[in-house]
Amino acid sequence: MNFQKAELVISAPDKKSWPDSDLPEIVLAGRSNVGKSSFINAMCNRKKLAYVGNSPGKTRLLNFFNLDDKYMFVDVPGYGYAKISKAQLIKFGQMMEDYFSERSQKKGLVLIVDARHKPTDDDITMIEFARYYEIPVCVVATKMDKLKSSQRHKQLKLIRQTLELSEDEKLFPFSSETKQGIDEVWEYLIPIFES
Ligand code: GDP
Repeated sequence: MNFQKAELVISAPDKKSWPDSDLPEIVLAGRSNVGKSSFINAMCNRKKLAYVGNSPGKTRLLNFFNLDDKYMFVDVPGYGYAKISKAQLIKFGQMMEDYFSERSQKKGLVLIVDARHKPTDDDITMIEFARYYEIPVCVVATKMDKLKSSQRHKQLKLIRQTLELSEDEKLFPFSSETKQGIDEVWEYLIPIFES
């Protein structure tokens, strides 16, 4: 999608810093290094909107991206680092709990997973958070280009089963390299943003 404007509004450490806006928001979550920044950049047709390759433990912030004063992507810091402290884990949980329970313009969650790997318990926790708060969920399996065509179907099935996706919970094969899936994901997200 081509936006005239696509910019980071704020990296918010806590709810006091959330932007004062009523744009509809979609949350993007996934394990660190899964390809989330690349996904944001590919979706917005930008090279460096979201920083690619952030280092472990660096970010505990929600990043709000304003797209043409119409939509907001809310980028959740990558989770799943082995060395995260218990205090950091609690803080992360609190941040997500605050967001999901208090942010009224939240419209949906996109969970980004690496197509090559089985989703983790952290991924399951994240998707269950969204289900609990009854916001629509979809899953993007990125890095599809790294899979042999013979493996693709099997991996998508594994992801679907591990996350126990219902019929309504879409799973999109995606690649920031080949641009596979961009149109399909936008086609799904626009009605969600506008719901
Ligand atoms: P993040 O930590 O989740 O934001 O992940 P990044 O977007 O920084 O990506 C992590 C690494 O995976 C980088 O080296 C990217 O170039 C690479 N990557 C991300 N998406 C894809 C993809 O669709 N295909 C391939 N081949 N590499 C990707």
